[in-house]
Amino acid sequence: MIVLKSDRELKIMKRAGKIAAHTLEILKKAIRPGITTHELDKIAEEYILSKGARPAFKGYRGFPATICTSINEQVVHGIPGERRLEEGDIISIDVGVVLDGYYGDTAATFPVGKVSREAEELIEITQNCFFEGIKYARKGNRLTDISHAIQNYVESRGCSIVRDYVGHGIGREMHEPPQIPHFGPPGKGPRLEKGMVLAIEPMVNRGDFKVKTLEDNWTVVTVDGSLSAHYEHTVAITDGEPKILTLP
Ligand code: MG
Repeated sequence: MIVLKSDRELKIMKRAGKIAAHTLEILKKAIRPGITTHELDKIAEEYILSKGARPAFKGYRGFPATICTSINEQVVHGIPGERRLEEGDIISIDVGVVLDGYYGDTAATFPVGKVSREAEELIEITQNCFFEGIKYARKGNRLTDISHAIQNYVESRGCSIVRDYVGHGIGREMHEPPQIPHFGPPGKGPRLEKGMVLAIEPMVNRGDFKVKTLEDNWTVVTVDGSLSAHYEHTVAITDGEPKILTLP
């Protein structure tokens, strides 16, 4: 796991994070009924390259695109293609970039036009659980203090937290140790120290937490067909408040 040793390293990670965050902002504005997920992917790729960065997911274990686009009951790792977004859909978009050897990773779920109250609430719960979790992302705490707070919040709101996919350390690699579950008992895992950088990325299902992978070997969906949402930021541990590196 990376422990940032200098302000210079932190600055580069912030710049990488900002590019990822701006990509999501640009995509949020482009989302509308009728646009294909491939068109969104193109927009993302052009923007990232224009900033002198590279899409981190493209080519990763053979993933063919810049972003992951996961619609409705799709949880994560959806592949952009010719599917057109429809009014009432929700779409989770995950963006990773690498700049000067450092990675930034962020994701969020967006409504397409007017969506159901249930979908709106799920998006809100997913964002909120991330912020409940990072209250514990402080020097001296244990890693799973974050995990536990996320699960507690999600379940208190009648949703479930995905077990099969977890967050990760991030820095000079997209996925570094430790794995960061978004569930489980507190007080376990490494003690957090200044300079650690974590990608915390809860995936929340409206129904049961069980998921499965489709035949494309990438797209993960809920087994019960219920809606799913995703929210992720790259977060640095400091002497005080955690610092979110993937903010616009
Ligand atoms: Mg991630």
